[in-house]
Amino acid sequence: MLSEKKEQAIKANYHTHTKRCHHARGEDREYVEAAIEAGLQILGFSDHTPYPVREGFVSGMRISLDEADDYFYSISSLKKEYAKDIKIHIGVEAEYFPEHFHKLLDFMKDYPLEYMILGEHFVPEEERGRYLGAPFTDVALLEEYTKDVIEAIHTGKFLYVAHPDLPNYVGEDKDQKITDAMEQICAAAKQANLPLEINMLGHVRGGQYPSDYLLKAAAKYGNDMIIGMDVHNPKHFYNPKAIDECIGMAERYHLNLLTCLPALGDELNVG
Ligand SMILES: [Zn+2]
Ligand SMILES: [Zn+2]
Repeated sequence: MLSEKKEQAIKANYHTHTKRCHHARGEDREYVEAAIEAGLQILGFSDHTPYPVREGFVSGMRISLDEADDYFYSISSLKKEYAKDIKIHIGVEAEYFPEHFHKLLDFMKDYPLEYMILGEHFVPEEERGRYLGAPFTDVALLEEYTKDVIEAIHTGKFLYVAHPDLPNYVGEDKDQKITDAMEQICAAAKQANLPLEINMLGHVRGGQYPSDYLLKAAAKYGNDMIIGMDVHNPKHFYNPKAIDECIGMAERYHLNLLTCLPALGDELNVG
């Protein structure tokens, strides 16, 4: 039995992982029940996508290719089973790897994929590239990240950009370089009418994102924002304090905060 729904200010979350990415915990069903209990009306699963990069390469941080069937089967089943209680969407969080992205689209063709969010963790790709969430000083990596994110935005394949402010650049002229990167991304996202994420897990962890660089640039370009919980544990859904603080960031910069994504046909029940 689920206990009485708790009240918090967010009713839709499109950024949710499962244990298949090897760094999240809990069963799929526990995520659904925790989301319902936290008062969500819309739950988007967007685990780290399986990615056919190179034959034989096995990633330690995403759904493996041979677990893709299980992911889509499990979430599809829960979507039906819980349809009365919550609207579930099946998506993935994916990088845009310029050389390999077409293989990902091809791989997904036969799956009931409803949406992708862009989560650009590596440049130029995972196997030989760099993870940009760790501190780095080479500005060329930041520029490459920016270029790839903008290209990704222009593919029209993504519903929003997760943690655009992930790069942990600590090199020369940091303020100006990150500001430039965020402004370029915000300009492209605005032009494409693509929302940008305020990442709640990042806020809870106290890392480099969500950052003032992003919020300032978004204020300058008038971007739509959305809070993504980036749930890696069913317990992450209920966090009224963190949610309020993320809403506070948007308010501080007078940003337009979306409460759900109409692009997926979603609307919230009020009252
Ligand atoms: Zn993750
Ligand atoms: Zn994520």
